[in-house]
Amino acid sequence: MFLLGDWRRTNYSNEVKPEMDGEEVILMGWVHSIRALGKLAFIILRDREGTIQIVVPKQKVSEETFATAKKIGKEDVIAVKGKVVANEKAPNGFEVIPTEIRILNKAETPLPLDPSEKVPADIDTRLDKRFLDLRRPKIQALFRIRSEMLKSVRNTFYEEGFIEVNTPKLVASATEGGTELFPISYFEKEAFLGQSPQLYKQMMMASGFDKVFEIGPIFRAEEHNTRRHLNEAISIDTEMSFSDDRDAMDVLEKVVYNTFVDIYENREKEIELLGIDFKLPEKKFDRITYDEAVDIANSKGVEIEWGEDLSRAAEKAIGDEMGDLYFITDWPSKTRPFYTLHDEKNPEICKAFDLMYKELELSSGAQRVHKYDLLVENIKSMGMNPEGFGTYLEAFKYGMPPHAGWGLGADRFMMILTCQENIRECVLFPRDRQRLTP
Ligand code: ATP
Ligand code: MG
Repeated sequence: MFLLGDWRRTNYSNEVKPEMDGEEVILMGWVHSIRALGKLAFIILRDREGTIQIVVPKQKVSEETFATAKKIGKEDVIAVKGKVVANEKAPNGFEVIPTEIRILNKAETPLPLDPSEKVPADIDTRLDKRFLDLRRPKIQALFRIRSEMLKSVRNTFYEEGFIEVNTPKLVASATEGGTELFPISYFEKEAFLGQSPQLYKQMMMASGFDKVFEIGPIFRAEEHNTRRHLNEAISIDTEMSFSDDRDAMDVLEKVVYNTFVDIYENREKEIELLGIDFKLPEKKFDRITYDEAVDIANSKGVEIEWGEDLSRAAEKAIGDEMGDLYFITDWPSKTRPFYTLHDEKNPEICKAFDLMYKELELSSGAQRVHKYDLLVENIKSMGMNPEGFGTYLEAFKYGMPPHAGWGLGADRFMMILTCQENIRECVLFPRDRQRLTP
């Protein structure tokens, strides 16, 4: 019998309790391990929620059931109908004794990767055989946390009155300059994969949506392999009207803080499985200016000239000094894209911010330019041609409110939530310079 027939799972492994003594259950999952000792077999069945022991004593089960148990191999997919028997000596105070076992599908041997985590594997092998790697309870825990993170982020946005949108990822021109773009052939034309929803979410402000957010892919032709860059990443993006940079930072703080709380409260088991030191942050994050950040770097012997973007060495020095989560504000205008609003009194600095976790950038945001003339001027002063921004620029001519927003890298956010050093760990099927499959 390799089909379900009329069998349906009655319980996940974690739902079976000694109090269910005498009840019939149907369990389904993978064979995590099997031990057959003459007249007795032990099957550890694994499902999404954990593992459960099935005991198969030759005297107590039908001949057919015992014969099936003997045929079972590691990672076979099985369904077990059986009785819960309370037993103080059993691992969780009960055992399940089968009345029938169905092998729904056999797994070939040898396995290219051992999901029971007994045999360690390097990250490349793991990513090559990702579907097997993902069966490992610890890896599943990561992605349960990722799902919780996305849910929490959405909840906060909805609570705060934001509207979820989807903008195109096939785009005609570069958002902020061309170096990080992936060109693609689009019928007779050249097009690009979207590197950011920036221009579209600003156009939503001209459309009167007031507060929008989008969770979607961004594509960047990052040349170098680092532990914090991918070529396809998920960005949590937002834009809000009648708001300034401070309002945008407040929303970012809420989104990040609430996610920590939700994971802390709802993913205790996963945190424990991962063995991570999960600490709730302060509700308000520290805020330092770019000038203060430069002073910190310089005081630690890392030379930074005013106006430069922060180097990796500078980020490390600043990260060592600061708490876990902190903002850097008041950036030099020339380090930021053309749509960033400059300070009224000192146009050398702008209303941009980054959210950092130690040395890692999590998010960049700013108050934007909402005046057409100023925007055109900024585009030109950065050496670009306003004609390339046709429909985007038009949105600023007929009633564009003041607005601000940010983009938060979902995969980087995962790195800090789950204490991972390599961003690839936080993505099901990561894309980097060397990896386009699976
Ligand atoms: P970095 O300087 O670290 O390369 P960035 O300043 O180029 O990042 P932004 O354009 O500010 O990135 O994008 C907003 C956020 O999106 C970043 O703070 C980061 O969390 C995330 N992000 C950007 N590029 C990548 C990438 N290649 N891989 C993963 N996440 C990314
Ligand atoms: Mg940035």
